[in-house]
Amino acid sequence: MIKWDGHSHTKFCKHGHPDELERYLEQAVELGFGRYSVTEHPPLPERLIDDERLMAELAMDFAEMPAYFDYVREYKKRYEGRLDIAIGLEFDYLHENYAFTERIAEPWADVLEDAVMSVHYLPGRGGLRCIDYKPDDFRVNLLDYYGSMEKVVDEYFDHVEQAIETAVRLPGRKRIGHIGLIEKFRQALPPVDEAQIRHRLEKALPLLKRTGVGVDVNTAGLRVATCGKPYVPEWFIRECVAAGVECVYGSDSHKPEQVGFGWDYFEQAMRG
Ligand SMILES: [Zn+2]
Ligand SMILES: [Zn+2]
Repeated sequence: MIKWDGHSHTKFCKHGHPDELERYLEQAVELGFGRYSVTEHPPLPERLIDDERLMAELAMDFAEMPAYFDYVREYKKRYEGRLDIAIGLEFDYLHENYAFTERIAEPWADVLEDAVMSVHYLPGRGGLRCIDYKPDDFRVNLLDYYGSMEKVVDEYFDHVEQAIETAVRLPGRKRIGHIGLIEKFRQALPPVDEAQIRHRLEKALPLLKRTGVGVDVNTAGLRVATCGKPYVPEWFIRECVAAGVECVYGSDSHKPEQVGFGWDYFEQAMRG
């Protein structure tokens, strides 16, 4: 098994870190990684969320896309033979707006090697709302809107299923991003029913198998105080492996020192 970090960000991420990619890559080489996917947040539709300040820090602009691809391609060349750098994007599942996703992906179809498809937004109070912004924002704009965690969780996994179906149409290797992100603020919100999560993950498994979409075993949840665990449970990783669904570790690094974070968890789960 190649040591591979399949989900990472760069200075092009406005909620990330200004460090150059080199610092991330040096950390990856030092930790013995053989492959490293750079998966930046591509542009979002204008006014997707009714919060100008939040919108400004979510993703890069259309005008920055060529510079991003040039930037990663340059490092890909520079690291040839030392580290296999894959050029990717972390797409947002945009409900009923595949046209926009296509507008992002299409010009880069020949270049894109990795497509992580993530659900970060759900319909909520006053329009789409971020599920991973802040606990208070979640409470006011999602929990109060749906009336219970159970309903939010069900809505979330309905979107995850649609995201998997949509990811199939993207170029390159495809993975569903941090499938358990809905638990990011679990310790600051009313409890989530673990049986419900299990049920929804089990329901998603045949869909992953049928579509060939893999799983981003995203460990970022371990860094979040209100979550304290990776976004993909160990039992699910084992079931995916048994079903032939590809599982790829993802640090979701937004800073160089986060590269490799939680690798042990992944490795142990994969060993079974
Ligand atoms: Zn990010
Ligand atoms: Zn994400």
